[in-house]
Amino acid sequence: MKIRIGNGYDIHQLVEGRPLILGGVEIPHHLGLLGHSDADVLTHAIMDAMLGALSLGDIGHYFPPTDPQWAGANSLLLLQQVNELVRDQGWEIGNIDSTIVAERPKLKPHLKNMCRMLANTLAINPDQIGIKATTNEKLGPVGREEGICALAVVLLVTQ
Ligand code: MG
Repeated sequence: MKIRIGNGYDIHQLVEGRPLILGGVEIPHHLGLLGHSDADVLTHAIMDAMLGALSLGDIGHYFPPTDPQWAGANSLLLLQQVNELVRDQGWEIGNIDSTIVAERPKLKPHLKNMCRMLANTLAINPDQIGIKATTNEKLGPVGREEGICALAVVLLVTQ
């Protein structure tokens, strides 16, 4: 069995008048993430990790923020496309581990739902996906609730 590993990171600004979408789940909050697509930082970090594992570049290359067709895009649909790219090359996901860093709101009640949404989109089992949530202990821009960031590691396997 051959393996490849990739890591991904993303951050978006928190602003008023936008929905907060993480891992494909809309989370009730008075602020949402600003971005060209739905600004789902968790899904973006996972996509970058998948692409990175196969040296295929990053999501900005496949879904440029200057391209109007990705305006307001559901990031799960982008994730599905990245997954197809990975599978077309003969690889599949071994497991994903990820962390969301957000001061507020409390994300724990939503983690299972995110996991289910991502697993459905990737056609893998929920137990292949780890999602952790932590705060930044009030430090820096994330601690001041100016944004939310996410980190992901993905292991790809092939026979
Ligand atoms: Mg992004």
